[in-house]
Amino acid sequence: MKPIYVDNNATTMVAPQVVAAMTPYFTELYGNPSSMHSFGGQVGGAIEEARAKVASLINASASEIVFTSCGTESDSTAIKAALAANPDKRHIVTSRVEHPAIKNLYEQLSTQGYRTTYVPVNAQGELDLDYLYDNLTDGTAVVSIMWANNETGVVFPVEEIAAEVRKRGIVFHSDSVQVPGKLTIDVQADPYDMLSLSGHKLHAPKGVGVLYIRKGTRFSPFMVGGHQEGGRRGGTENVASIVGLGAAADLAGEHLADGSVARLAALRDRLEAGLLESVPRAMVNGTVDSRLPNTTSISFEYVEGEAILLMMDQLGICASSGSACTSGSLEPSHVLRAMGVPFTAAHGSIRFSLSTYNTEEEVDYIVENMPPVIARLRELSPFWEKEAV
Ligand code: PLP
Repeated sequence: MKPIYVDNNATTMVAPQVVAAMTPYFTELYGNPSSMHSFGGQVGGAIEEARAKVASLINASASEIVFTSCGTESDSTAIKAALAANPDKRHIVTSRVEHPAIKNLYEQLSTQGYRTTYVPVNAQGELDLDYLYDNLTDGTAVVSIMWANNETGVVFPVEEIAAEVRKRGIVFHSDSVQVPGKLTIDVQADPYDMLSLSGHKLHAPKGVGVLYIRKGTRFSPFMVGGHQEGGRRGGTENVASIVGLGAAADLAGEHLADGSVARLAALRDRLEAGLLESVPRAMVNGTVDSRLPNTTSISFEYVEGEAILLMMDQLGICASSGSACTSGSLEPSHVLRAMGVPFTAAHGSIRFSLSTYNTEEEVDYIVENMPPVIARLRELSPFWEKEAV
């Protein structure tokens, strides 16, 4: 049986049209885009076409798009560029619920003499905006706030935050890795300085990312080498993946325009409602008023998330407990802890993240098969009888 894949915030299937667009760049068109001969030159043209497609998805100019190796590289590049541009400023701000790509970078910077402020969230996972603005000073070099949380799907009001932060002359970056193809990004409408994207979250392959850098933003490269990417990122380009990302950006644009996103949200809602109805003591983590259309994080109290995942795996269902990067450790996720989710619920949290490739049949299969799994695990839990009933 084909697995039911509802772990799309971890990674996505490479779309068939993306594979088709990439294939010639492995077989016939293997030239180096920097070569003087036309065999390489045509490859360079394909990179520029992909750049234009990615730019169009977020309403940017092609010259504002830099291809990187992943979202993590884009995040590091953005923050380090902001710090290099503001050498006298030693204060950096982010949220308590960032992906490790930002969280661990900030922790490293805090050991290198930077003062860090982590903006808290409430029980619904919503950002404390007053705390954010009250903590900005003349010494703040950069504010980095994720657009949408990868674990809960909660969406932060980055449009407003960007405007407020830039009013104070501070660089604003957003880790927007979970957003393309699910929400509209418009860099003309809202004043982000830098945004990070990642190919493998939008049906392109792993190993390619994007850093959007607004024209006029002071920038110094993180990867120094050749003159590629206009001198902003050295290293021979990952040509096939960049071409694939261009095709994936086209597809993401189509999904935003053709009603696919509304269908995705309806599918997610069907899954969520089905599980909440049929499993007692189950609850959604994070506000349902402002979140990604594909994500629901559900806590099943008094059960271990890892045990649920293993039993789901036997049923052919692929989901995740917390983010892919934190599973493997038995600590509840830092996101759920920041929201104050009780220990007994945080441990039993499962993230379902759908894509437009999921079907109603798949959702119904999950809704039918998960409740007995939870019931069986609760029978084994020493806390269930004592505390829950
Ligand atoms: N930021 C967020 C919000 C993510 O969800 C991820 C991946 O899970 C990343 C950054 C890292 O992206 P990449 O895997 O391309 O390095």
